[in-house]
Amino acid sequence: EADTALYQAKASGRNSVHFFESSMQVAVEARFDLEGELRHAVDREQLRLFLQPQVDAAGHIVGAEALLRWQHPSKGLISPAVFIPLAEETGLIVPVGQWVLNQACQILAGIAGRGQSLRISVNVSPRQFRQADFVASVREVLARTGVAPACLVLEITEGLVIEDLQHTIDKMHELKACGVRLSLDDFGTGYSSLTYLKRMPIDELKIDRSFVRDAPVNDNDAALVEVMLSVSRHFHLEVVAEGVETLDQLNFLKAHGCRCFQGYLLGRPMPAETFLSLMDDGSDQGRLSDLQTSGA
Ligand code: C2E
Ligand code: MG
Ligand code: MG
Ligand code: MG
Repeated sequence: EADTALYQAKASGRNSVHFFESSMQVAVEARFDLEGELRHAVDREQLRLFLQPQVDAAGHIVGAEALLRWQHPSKGLISPAVFIPLAEETGLIVPVGQWVLNQACQILAGIAGRGQSLRISVNVSPRQFRQADFVASVREVLARTGVAPACLVLEITEGLVIEDLQHTIDKMHELKACGVRLSLDDFGTGYSSLTYLKRMPIDELKIDRSFVRDAPVNDNDAALVEVMLSVSRHFHLEVVAEGVETLDQLNFLKAHGCRCFQGYLLGRPMPAETFLSLMDDGSDQGRLSDLQTSGA
């Protein structure tokens, strides 16, 4: 009896192991395909840089965040949430990040050429930041495109700061010496201490949308947002509130002294050409001043 039971357990175990292996293999192969394809995405010109407006309290576009998309030939538009982690793991983030930096500077050069001015924020992944030649590559792209360094904002995340604080700070100083601006993305979501702010040569904080979401209705989130705004005033940092979707959120943030906003309420990420035509025809200002009057 015992033998039979054991045999059955083994048999079904073997089956489930077999099933497990084959479904895992499918996942592994899918990942492998994507990785292989991502390797060629730059050469095959499948990457797209979307821009999402950042607006001031008067409704004027003052900047844009560059957000990457992958136009896959059969899978359609793939979100960076899917392929950035893969790119980071495999090291492909280095050429991909370089492409983004180059593309953003090309756009900035085009804008300057038309006598306009704007800031573009570029997300820099930890692995990209840690490359020994990262600062040199930033210098190179600025020199080649002739872009005013102050128009380029590099967004880094808290995670980077914790791993190797002194090294990160040294590198930030090198970047500041190039004239670019530094922004701390997703502020408040990581484990970094407020005391880091004192030591880091950053220009800007981005309040993560997880705090913005319920700030108008939740006392705790409201308090956290107020603290972030007051700390940034103290350290003379600019603040961008992320993920502003409603007028209540916008009005709450304005009432507490926030001056720069990014979110679906003000504009979704859009193809660069669409963004540039929006800047040209000024239709954004019509829409945003409508918001001003209907709000508050
Ligand atoms: P992030 O840097 O925090 O970018 C903001 C994300 O919030 C974007 O998602 C944006 O589309 C989304 N968002 C903006 N406004 C709203 C809103 O009102 N509501 C909601 N629900 N979401 C909003 P996206 O484009 O999917 O990018 C996700 C993340 O992928 C980014 O988060 C960033 O960490 C990373 N990423 C995107 N592009 C790049 C890139 O070129 N390089 C690197 N290293 N990372 C990138
Ligand atoms: Mg960002
Ligand atoms: Mg962010
Ligand atoms: Mg965020």
